[in-house]
Amino acid sequence: MPEIKKYKCALCKKEYVRSSVKEEDYFPFCSERCRLMDLGSWLKEEYVTSRPLKEEELVELANAEGEEKEE
Ligand SMILES: [Zn+2]
Repeated sequence: MPEIKKYKCALCKKEYVRSSVKEEDYFPFCSERCRLMDLGSWLKEEYVTSRPLKEEELVELANAEGEEKEE
């Protein structure tokens, strides 16, 4: 019997279940949205504190925002 593991989202603190390989991409967040929000916040911090944004990071962010779930 597979073990169901619950995790707390690192951003919104909501409990969520990792049920598929695909969803693990968001770990440690509950969803793509939380992951992006967190990514956005640290990109901003990095920007003001130490280094300019890398182009690949911007591209990744844009791509992730553009796609909803593809099933
Ligand atoms: Zn969340």
